[in-house]
Amino acid sequence: MTDCVFCRIAAGEMEPQMILETESVLAFHDLNPVAPQHALVIPRRHIATLDDTVPEDREVLGDLMLAGAEVARKLDLENEGYRTVMNCGHGAGQSVYHIHLHVLGGRNFSWPPG
Ligand code: 5GP
Ligand code: ZN
Repeated sequence: MTDCVFCRIAAGEMEPQMILETESVLAFHDLNPVAPQHALVIPRRHIATLDDTVPEDREVLGDLMLAGAEVARKLDLENEGYRTVMNCGHGAGQSVYHIHLHVLGGRNFSWPPG
């Protein structure tokens, strides 16, 4: 039993609305969406933050980005465009300490982000 909510999802202990599952990553709809489409892509393996990654994580980080693009296509966002975000640490608003790529779409996004 782990207290990491995304490890629990990866272990099949919780069942979010799944979008994509591969050997290394999972993608599912966010519980509290902040856009009409809001998905999360996580590695199956626990990595707390982007700052904890090392060169050996190159493949899984690539898998996360490729899965993000695949999720956007599955959600029909590729033509209108979409935002991908990975928050790192409390200053950036990270609330779940298991890395995840947000895939946001269905509305316009301002820059710079808030
Ligand atoms: P962060 O704030 O760490 O960048 O993003 C964490 C995200 O995880 C938030 O958007 C939050 O709504 C989402 N989240 C937290 N717990 C759960 C959960 O149990 N299931 C799902 N599907 N999303 C969750
Ligand atoms: Zn975890």
